[in-house]
Amino acid sequence: MTVALREDMVLHAGDDGYQDAVTTVTGVGTPDIVVRPRSTADVVDALLYARQEHMPLTVRSGGHNLAGLTQVSDGMLIDMRRMNTVERVGVSSRVRIGGGATWGEVAKALSSEGLALTAGDTADVGVAGLTLGGGIGWMVREYGLSIDSLVSVELVTADGEVLEVSDSEHPDLFWAVRGGGGNFGVLTRLEFEAHPVDKVVFSTVLFALDSLAEARPVVSAWERCQRDADRRLTSVLALMPAMQDSPAMAMLQYCFDGDEDEAAPHVEALSALGTVMHKDIQYRPYASILVQDDPFPAPAAAQRNVLLSDFGKAEQSAVCDAFETGQLMMAIRALGGAMADVPSSATAFSARNAAVMVIGTQLLAPGDDRHQPMPGWEGIEHRGGESYVNWLDSADATASRRAYSEDALLRLARVKAQCDPNDVFSKAVPVVSE
Ligand SMILES: Cc1cc2nc3c(=O)[nH]c(=O)nc-3n(C[C@H](O)[C@H](O)[C@H](O)COP(=O)(O)OP(=O)(O)OC[C@H]3O[C@@H](n4cnc5c(N)ncnc54)[C@H](O)[C@@H]3O)c2cc1C
Repeated sequence: MTVALREDMVLHAGDDGYQDAVTTVTGVGTPDIVVRPRSTADVVDALLYARQEHMPLTVRSGGHNLAGLTQVSDGMLIDMRRMNTVERVGVSSRVRIGGGATWGEVAKALSSEGLALTAGDTADVGVAGLTLGGGIGWMVREYGLSIDSLVSVELVTADGEVLEVSDSEHPDLFWAVRGGGGNFGVLTRLEFEAHPVDKVVFSTVLFALDSLAEARPVVSAWERCQRDADRRLTSVLALMPAMQDSPAMAMLQYCFDGDEDEAAPHVEALSALGTVMHKDIQYRPYASILVQDDPFPAPAAAQRNVLLSDFGKAEQSAVCDAFETGQLMMAIRALGGAMADVPSSATAFSARNAAVMVIGTQLLAPGDDRHQPMPGWEGIEHRGGESYVNWLDSADATASRRAYSEDALLRLARVKAQCDPNDVFSKAVPVVSE
């Protein structure tokens, strides 16, 4: 049977909406057609049509992939963003979210219900893309990764089959979609168990750094605060060299799930990590702490990350050495807590014992190669285990070896061979072992 697509689903270059659909965080693509489904049946049609026409296929939701996976030059781009419903299931804390929603839409919809899900820090990031990699957010220490609240997904396979996927149905596939990226099919619905969250204490504190070496005591004091911290507290310390009109500084941001009185004893020391230049502290709705992006595309930057199970003196020193090259911004995200409650083998994201994630960012000038070695990064990397797949700026075999343990990669490859043997969903960090 020949498959045809409804006219209102399809956009070509020059049509209203095409430019918006092809613009992602890394740049602007030129796919032959954009398909904008409104339902699971539309997604099935899109997949069957792509197969019939032998078109390469890419699926996007938030468009925030740092490796440029959803910025494509040919074939069909399925833009999921019309499937962005957020529905509470009765009076329970279960929520069903469309495969094209963003975390900002989810946080806003759940806010009025006194519920929230721990997700990223940015409103426009896609629920599907972030969840497929794990999901590290402001309540990761209290409620774990985003995948730890995921109950089931509806997934359309490359053959157009619609599967309910959960711990009890297709459990291997459910294991794989919790960290294995967009390798397996199109997520049309994600069902989560949300958490009772209303307002949180959110603070940003800027500390002066008269020299880059002054970051050392700040990092060490932050680690002491965060080491045995209450699970309701998650913080991120960013070290920034001088840029344009801005002096070098350390920026601390933290989220505490509770009110100001509850937070006070847990956060006091965090506000005294160094010489304070600016401090902002507010008790505000969780939904309001997710930031809006600047318009795409973002400035070109190379990024590396590593999940470190220890953040002792040697690791702190390696981070500070890299910062002192003057060429990198460093972010250190506190992990642990509930994230470590889940066994490593339970999900494709396996670095459950990570105490912190360190991210290095280097702004690139035109012509710079993003894959060139990053100054000082080697000293950090060799102390760590896996990298977080969602924060990799490349998607080749090296990236997959960084992101997955050998065991996880073998198991991912087995699931991939079963559900997408022809690699229709190739716009992901590859999981086929070489
Ligand atoms: C500014 C910024 C802030 C970020 N903050 C955080 C953060 O706080 N925490 C965190 O964990 N990560 C964060 N990330 C990383 C983010 O999780 C990843 O970039 C993620 O892949 C983005 O998902 P997306 O849906 O927006 O991207 P997209 O580019 O749309 O998709 C990413 C991947 O998912 C696939 N995909 C998308 N939708 C579907 C679907 N419905 N079904 C199947 N496959 C699909 C795509 O094909 C692609 O492989 C951030 C990234 C940026 C750029």
